Order: sequence, then C-alpha cells, then structure tokens
Amino acid sequence: MQKNILIIGAGIAGCSLAHFLANSGWNVTLLESEDDIAQGGSGNPVAAIYPKFMLNDEAYNDFMLKSFRFTTGWIRRLGLNEGDYRFDGAIEILEEAYAQKLEINLSRKITNKENFFSLINESILNKYLIESNSSGLFFHQGGWVNPIALCSHLINHSNIKIVTHQKIKSIEKSTDQWTLKTESQKTFNSSHVAICNASSVSQFDLTQHLHTDAFRGQVNWINSTTLQMPPIVTCDEGYLAPLIQDKHIFGATYAMNDFNKDLRKSDTKKNIASIKKIHREFYNHCEAQESIHGRVAWRASTKDRKPYVGRVFDNQLLGKMRVRELARADQLPWLKDLYIASGFGSRGFTFAPYCSSVLANLINDNLSQEDKKTLNYTNPERYRLKKMSLKKVASQIFKV
Ligand SMILES: Cc1cc2nc3c(=O)[nH]c(=O)nc-3n(C[C@H](O)[C@H](O)[C@H](O)COP(=O)(O)OP(=O)(O)OC[C@H]3O[C@@H](n4cnc5c(N)ncnc54)[C@H](O)[C@@H]3O)c2cc1C
Repeated sequence: MQKNILIIGAGIAGCSLAHFLANSGWNVTLLESEDDIAQGGSGNPVAAIYPKFMLNDEAYNDFMLKSFRFTTGWIRRLGLNEGDYRFDGAIEILEEAYAQKLEINLSRKITNKENFFSLINESILNKYLIESNSSGLFFHQGGWVNPIALCSHLINHSNIKIVTHQKIKSIEKSTDQWTLKTESQKTFNSSHVAICNASSVSQFDLTQHLHTDAFRGQVNWINSTTLQMPPIVTCDEGYLAPLIQDKHIFGATYAMNDFNKDLRKSDTKKNIASIKKIHREFYNHCEAQESIHGRVAWRASTKDRKPYVGRVFDNQLLGKMRVRELARADQLPWLKDLYIASGFGSRGFTFAPYCSSVLANLINDNLSQEDKKTLNYTNPERYRLKKMSLKKVASQIFKV
C-alpha cells in the first residue's frame, strides 16, 4: 500500500517528521507558506542545544533528558557538515544556591553524572574563558546546531517533496481522504496529515482549541573579532555562541504576543546587556558598534511548556459522548490520520526531533513503552480533558 502524508510547516518539527517518515517508506509532501524552508522560528543562525532543567518539575526534567539525549545522539549520526554542529559542552550560568540544588536533584536522576554535567569550578571557567565569579552548570554534551543546515539536510530525500508558497487555510475530511485548501484555492489531498505550523496551530477548525502564545525573540550578531572568545555556548540571561561562520551570535529577547517584525535597537541593547556577565570585553566591543545585525522570529509556547504532540479529538464524536465514557482511555474519540507537532517554545531544537521520531512511530503504529510515556506527557487534548475534570486520563491516554 502507498503511504502518503501532507505535512503543514517546514520548520524543524515538519522537516524532522518528514525525515523519519520518508525513512520508513512514506511519500511526504511538505507544504510551506513562505518561499523556503526554515523561515520561522527555525531560521536563526544558531540554536543552542543543552538540557534546561527545572528545580521542581520532575516530569519536565525527564522529558528534557530524553529529548536531549535522543537529539544530540541523532544529530551526531546524521552526517551534517562538521561546521554545522558541535557538542563539546555548554555552560548554563545560574545563581550558586540554585545550581547546587539542581545538582542534588539531577544527581539522583542521572547515572554517570560526572560524564553528563558538573558544577562550574575555577578550572572550567578558566578553560572556557568565562568571567571568574560565575556559578552554574557545565553540560559535557551540550552544544549548538546550524538550524537551516539541519532542516535542509533532513528533507534531502527522494521521498520528500517540498512545495513552498502554499499557505493552508482549511483542512477537511471526505470519506477516505483529507483535503487541504490554500489561500489561492489550490487543493492537496492525502490519506494522512500532520500539522507542524508552530503558533498557527489553532488556525484550523479541528485544532482551534490548541492555544499557544507567540513570544517574539530577537537575536543579534557581529562579525568575528580578535578578542579571545568562549569556544562553547554560554547561557546566562541570554546566550553567547562560539564563532560560527565568522559570526558571534548572541540573544535572545522574549516578548509575549508582540508582532513587530522589525529589528529594534532597544532589543539589541537588551541582548548586549545580557552577555555582560559572560564576557566583559566582548560586551564593551558590542557597545561600541555603530550597527549590529539581527533577526526576529516567534516561539510558540503552551501554558505548561509542554509541546502538543499526538492526535486531537473528532469534535462531532466528542459532542455525542458523556464525560463518564471519556474517562476510559480506550474510548477516547481520536480523529483518524491527523497528527500534531507544535508548541515547542524556546527548546524546539532539543524537543522537536525527539517528538517527531515518536510521532512517526505513532503514525507507523510502532510505539515503544517510552514513546507511549512521551505521548501521555504531550497529549494535545490535555486541556480539554482537564476542563472536564479528567486529569488522570489526560496523562494516561496510553497504558504503560
Ligand atoms: C529568537 C529565538 C531564539 C531561539 N533560540 C533557540 C535555541 O537556541 N535553541 C532551541 O532549541 N530553540 C530556540 N528557539 C526556539 C526554536 O527556534 C523553535 O522552538 C523551533 O524553531 C520551532 O520549530 P517549528 O517547526 O515548530 O516552528 P517554525 O520553525 O516556526 O516552523 C513553522 C512553519 O510553519 C509555516 N506555516 C505556518 N502556518 C502555515 C500554513 N497555514 N500553511 C503552510 N505553512 C505554514 C511557517 O511559515 C513556518 O515555516 C528560538 C526561537 C527564537 C524565536
């Protein structure tokens, strides 16, 4: 049987899903509204990849750890050009007491922790040229990737067709296939559809309940300098990346539901200020520049910081069911052959490849126990179920 799927959105979520499905025999058509792939959140010149843990959220930390381990291992094996990624360490500067508490929590969770992370000490600070009074964590396998190079590499497959300039306006189901219509009334048909369009996920009738907030972010960069710079990603309030393609990239700002597309001088100033504690000389150098390059994009964030990955309900079937019936996970009215991967917030390059691999396993009906746990965690219907006081079933849609 021919396996065909339409994927809406060619950022890291859509491109990585296309990659996993193409590798398992699917014919993928990737539909993108812009004139090229990776023009939204996934189009920055660098993405930092390190596990950003929380002090009091064990489930989030488990998800972070799984995603980070999967994604870094996978990127290493992809065969990207050497200059397009690097996992030789990342530093997260944190307040000392916070870093120590996090270290205690993580030590219980992570076996072989000395190979995974260390509390920052004098020798790490000296080695990586960070200001000497900083505290925080050093992640040995942290690093960065070139987002556009990664997305381009992923879709370079004979089973993947990319069609740009196609802004999908509606999704409808007829007897045995989905029909997608564009703004200019062009149609695409297929048995399967995946929606990977970040903060536009709620634009369709079937998914309008999937709320995200768009967080505007600006990154900046200047051309290489003669200064001695940290050779790895260093994150404080903002991040400073090592020299990549002759650029020192730093950022990023964070503003909710601000839709201004233009670079703002005030945001450039904020980004410069955010690296002051990382590298004072570089900060002074940036302050002295007449003009600084940059880019603006949006992150799609859910209220609970978990992405939406999985399926949604068939609204017609849902309307006919009683709450009592919905309490049983095996009776939930899933819409067939329509999938979601959106809402990756600030950590899309850690979360999205892992989540896309799990979603591809769902589509291929080949879920492992770990995949099921992940889909319980990222269930896109969690808010609707919780509203009906069905919190338990919301996190147990799969038996594990
Ligand atoms: C300033 C900034 C800095 C960041 N830094 C990092 C970082 O260091 N590390 C990290 O991991 N993450 C970072 N992120 C977050 C990361 O970039 C996102 O999580 C990730 O790019 C989301 O990928 P995506 O594929 O879900 O969305 P996107 O990359 O936004 O892709 C969605 C695509 O869908 C298309 N689309 C939307 N609607 C339609 C439609 N109706 N029809 C067709 N196409 C449509 C869009 O044009 C877009 O190309 C940063 C984000 C920003 C904004």
